[in-house]
Amino acid sequence: MAARILNPLSQLGAMRGKAVAFIGLGRMGSEMAYNLFSKTFAQEKDAHFIVCDALKDNATKFASNFTGQFPGAHVSIAETPGEAALSAKTLITMLPSTPQVREVYEEHIMPAFVHLGPQIAGESLAIDSTTLDVKASQAVALRMKDLCVAMVDAPVSGGVTGAKAGTLSFLVGGTEADFRQAEPTLSMMGKRIVHCGPSGAGLGAKIANNLMLGVQQIVTAEALLLGQRLGLDPAVLSGVIGSSTGNCWSVSTNNPVPGALADVSPPCEREYDGGFATNLMLKDMGLALEVGQETSTPLPLGKAAAEVYAQVVKERPELGGKDFSAVYKYLYEQAVSV
Ligand code: NAD
Repeated sequence: MAARILNPLSQLGAMRGKAVAFIGLGRMGSEMAYNLFSKTFAQEKDAHFIVCDALKDNATKFASNFTGQFPGAHVSIAETPGEAALSAKTLITMLPSTPQVREVYEEHIMPAFVHLGPQIAGESLAIDSTTLDVKASQAVALRMKDLCVAMVDAPVSGGVTGAKAGTLSFLVGGTEADFRQAEPTLSMMGKRIVHCGPSGAGLGAKIANNLMLGVQQIVTAEALLLGQRLGLDPAVLSGVIGSSTGNCWSVSTNNPVPGALADVSPPCEREYDGGFATNLMLKDMGLALEVGQETSTPLPLGKAAAEVYAQVVKERPELGGKDFSAVYKYLYEQAVSV
């Protein structure tokens, strides 16, 4: 069955209860939606899937790819997130950051729930997996609650590889009841579903994790560059660090030096394409610094790392869209030009 443009009014009623909508089909969202929809379809052949993206091409490509692989699956394309909310009981959003989440929920999803009324809203669930500002997320969740919609923040860890494999970790913030409601949906896209605490707690955990990751990726680049300057083969050095106290994900999985890892193929093997964009890491370091300031937490290494990513993006804008391990390429070129 070919994907079609959604007519939300035709979805109201029985079909809405069997419909799940995914908004934001970028690098992560497209893989997550694929796992969620394919696993749901395996269990419920009459389930209805709705996709929506600001770049309509992303939604169209996803829908035609999915229906090509799963003939008989019902996939519709919503023109706006509001249409998606009118048509599906479960909504998942995977957007770049705070401005997009505010816009999608405040200008589209909330008005749709005002239109639907508290009874239908009360049967609905919104899961936001975007990494964004904690306070902005809590404010959106509170307003959704006022409209009777259950909502959790459920940012992810595991990257595009984890999204593709369905092995993501979901860090969930919300009430116990909302967590329980979201868990079955999240389990179709991830392996570890952790209830971190009330609304915003999932994001707090995510931001703290990415603060560490952002710093580690830079220091990994520094250590591997230094080693090469001292005449070490980066593969040998990566093997040594990988089995020593300096080991971390940036060394053993997301190693930034082409050819340094024998059994994994990190983004550096593809000109740093795919993976987690430097622009997004810069955003996450900014989120950490903001919360650090609000809570009077000293973050000297976080501050320094944010400056390095800002420099990379400013001086080499093309690296902004590449995996953040491209910070190695930036430092390497600086070292060469010394
Ligand atoms: P992305 O930029 O590839 O995807 C975002 C998608 O949202 C795009 O398709 C975009 O067109 C769409 N979008 C933007 N504004 C929209 C709107 N108003 N309405 C509908 N769609 C809209 O980003 P990504 O890499 O998939 O990351 C998404 C989120 O996940 C970010 O918050 C990021 O920090 C987080 N994250 C990413 C990774 C990773 O490895 N890429 C890992 C963990 C967490």
